[in-house]
Amino acid sequence: MSERPAANTNAPALVDDRADDLVDDLVHGRRRFHALPAHLSARERAEARREALARLTGADLEHLGRYSLDDEVASSRNCECFLGAAQVPVGVVGPLLLHGDHVDGPVYVPLATTEGALIASTNRGCSAIRAAGGAQVLAEDVGMTRAPVFRTSGVRQTREFLAWVEDNTARLGEAAEATSSYLKLMEIRPHTFGTSVFLRFRFQTGDAMGMNMVTIACDRLVRDIIEPETGVPCVALSGNYCVDKKPAEINFHEGRGKRIHAEVVLEAPVLQRTLKTTARALVEAQYRKNLLGSIASGSMGYNAQMANALAAFFIATGQDPAHVAEAAVGVTLIEPRGPEAVVASVDLPDVPLGAVGGGTQLATQQEALRLLGVQVDPERPGAAALRLAEILGGVVLAAELSLMAAFTSRDLARAHERLGRGRGD
Ligand code: NAP
Repeated sequence: MSERPAANTNAPALVDDRADDLVDDLVHGRRRFHALPAHLSARERAEARREALARLTGADLEHLGRYSLDDEVASSRNCECFLGAAQVPVGVVGPLLLHGDHVDGPVYVPLATTEGALIASTNRGCSAIRAAGGAQVLAEDVGMTRAPVFRTSGVRQTREFLAWVEDNTARLGEAAEATSSYLKLMEIRPHTFGTSVFLRFRFQTGDAMGMNMVTIACDRLVRDIIEPETGVPCVALSGNYCVDKKPAEINFHEGRGKRIHAEVVLEAPVLQRTLKTTARALVEAQYRKNLLGSIASGSMGYNAQMANALAAFFIATGQDPAHVAEAAVGVTLIEPRGPEAVVASVDLPDVPLGAVGGGTQLATQQEALRLLGVQVDPERPGAAALRLAEILGGVVLAAELSLMAAFTSRDLARAHERLGRGRGD
């Protein structure tokens, strides 16, 4: 019996002469990797690319060609020059007991990671939350932003331009909302520097994360209305005042995507039995590490490891992993509650995520969303994304709690040695 499963190839393999010619053309640079014949299926195009690359580099690309996702969809919507799929192990944590507006009860959460010990540690945090009666979770849709930057001739034109935007905000909103069934303009926030004017558009985007939707809408406004009617040129559709995929104070203060809060009260028995720690030790570690250490290092986020749970959750559920760059700018707090208990909380003001669109349509990501009970309800647009956000808040809290406790019991290195180096399950 073969140890390896056969490559998932529903389409016939590219074995005929024409296929060989095609691979030959790629190898010798007579054809470019993104310009393969349109009549070939996505699977055939990927196969030709892998074969050509294997010949060019000597690298064996067998595993890249094993996948079960819909490659016609993936190659046309998610990934150009499609070659195959990377496999990231997925583990599960839970049940995680959460009480929010969109989730109330236990959930099992899939996380995609290659960091040994992350799942085990987060699972311990879930146990602590469960033993404490559950965590309170809240998610708010603060809207997705896009901020084109314009060039004016000087301060007088800037003033006229801003007055025009104010007078025409309702009309701009109507035009933007005509590009989608789900967009709602929330505000246009201007900022000026010399001859540069930034207009930060903020939209609600239903259940979608919304970056494509708001970019398409802003492009339409700029081309069809703002430039022709004001004569002020747009220099870049994204002026970095949005701000997308970069940690930034404006997002931290004003929020972007979903703003998420999760908290739990942990009494002494749970701290001792499940987390092997005490209130006093946790509060001190949180103060010296999360607060003072973050200040000393000039960090933008005041947390232990939010990026870990965020990345694992984002990859498993089809979010854009690059958004971890901004989502990880959050605050973890552990405050005393009486002499022996703590109230632990996480605040994440800047979490772009969605239940539809982007990578959420792919097969394993769909399964992950179903596992979480995240299902779009046409009667309640936005509710599925808020459920996803509330669950994410709970997972981040669980991961933060367990890691902070591991510092106090000096278990961090031991756990990584055991679980990250193949010495545990
Ligand atoms: P999208 O897949 O481009 O758009 C969402 C689509 O889902 C729209 O066509 C929307 O309908 C539809 N839809 C169906 N049901 C919906 C519901 N209940 N709520 C909201 N929409 C619903 O997704 P996106 O969220 O706008 O963009 C995500 C993608 O943007 C990701 O792949 C990400 O990597 C990428 N991204 C883009 C930029 C950029 O600058 N463009 C930046 C960062 C990331 P309508 O057609 O009626 O709107």
